[in-house]
Amino acid sequence: MGAITLVFGTETRSVDIPYVTPEFETNVKSVFITGELGGMGLIKNATTQGVQAVNNIAARARHAPADNKVHDVLIVGAGPAGIGASLAALKHKLKYVTIEQDDIGGTVLNYPRHKIVMTSPVELPLYGKIKLKETSKESLLELWTDVIRKTGLKINTFEKMISMTKDGDFFIIKTSKGEYYARHIVLAIGRRGTPRKLGVPGENLSKVAYRLLEPEQHQNHHVIVIGGGDSAVEAAMAIADQPGNKVLLSYRGEALSRIKPMNKTRLDDALAKKKLDLLLNSNLKEIGEKDVKLAVGEKVSTLKNDYIYIFAGGELPNEFLKSIGVQIEKKFGKA
Ligand SMILES: Cc1cc2nc3c(=O)[nH]c(=O)nc-3n(C[C@H](O)[C@H](O)[C@H](O)COP(=O)(O)OP(=O)(O)OC[C@H]3O[C@@H](n4cnc5c(N)ncnc54)[C@H](O)[C@@H]3O)c2cc1C
Repeated sequence: MGAITLVFGTETRSVDIPYVTPEFETNVKSVFITGELGGMGLIKNATTQGVQAVNNIAARARHAPADNKVHDVLIVGAGPAGIGASLAALKHKLKYVTIEQDDIGGTVLNYPRHKIVMTSPVELPLYGKIKLKETSKESLLELWTDVIRKTGLKINTFEKMISMTKDGDFFIIKTSKGEYYARHIVLAIGRRGTPRKLGVPGENLSKVAYRLLEPEQHQNHHVIVIGGGDSAVEAAMAIADQPGNKVLLSYRGEALSRIKPMNKTRLDDALAKKKLDLLLNSNLKEIGEKDVKLAVGEKVSTLKNDYIYIFAGGELPNEFLKSIGVQIEKKFGKA
């Protein structure tokens, strides 16, 4: 009805949004951005944009023969936008490859268990209309699994894009598993970024996580939270609030100097009440199934441990975009 206008940012607080044309192409020719990375969140919007971007690519792609090593399109990310884009690529019979650093689902995969998902009906290429309005995280992930099975969509999971360079007519994309060549790129990588890893032995164990979804799942556990920022402090306190947990907040620095005053007050209070422990100047050395090795100076101690949460920052998508020359615009409440 025109009664509501959606804007990016506010008059005083800007958001950084990459520049894209109405075809979702950035200022770097043949590099497209869809979904939340382009500023348009929500499952339906992201999915639809992914489809539209690849429809635009299909209109100009040369349809490389199957034996050609150069792909028509490489899609990065398999959240809603990447799934939409990949289905469109399959429908248009493009030679495509989709890589996803995690498992299929994007941000949805990281929703809390049984979260209610509000969405709107969306048309999926080769599958038809999904008439969902309200569903759960688990049902939505199941639906995507069904879509992938029925359409024969191929997604290379647990493969991370490391770098992207241009070589004449095509791009060279280096990943954690190899190298690809592609004429068009669709970046559907969302805005959450990639959490930074510590690189210590045992970090690949399933008890290690980089975000806390449900503090309630921890009761009577020995938990170590690594980091010195607000996310680490808030996670440590949330787990310490659950019954029976023994929580240690470990930070390599001398003081928690970056945290919000409110968190500082709450943490000091929790430490005084012995709800958790804080170990400054400490470094995680090794993670075992049932314990960890933690160093303070030269002294290494072995501590009992069930779960580890690491909040060591991460690579933000905007840093990557700038490195490949994509123009970023600051929007102050722009419609
Ligand atoms: C707590 C929460 C609740 C929400 N609830 C709703 C809701 O009820 N309804 C709704 O419509 N929306 C909801 N949203 C928003 C919605 O989840 C997002 O808008 C949507 O997931 C964006 O889709 P996307 O595909 O653009 O990005 P994402 O879903 O973030 O997917 C990006 C994918 O790219 C991958 N990736 C990133 N970097 C790389 C790399 N270098 N190499 C390979 N892969 C990479 C990531 O692993 C990820 O899987 C919610 C969001 C949150 C955080």
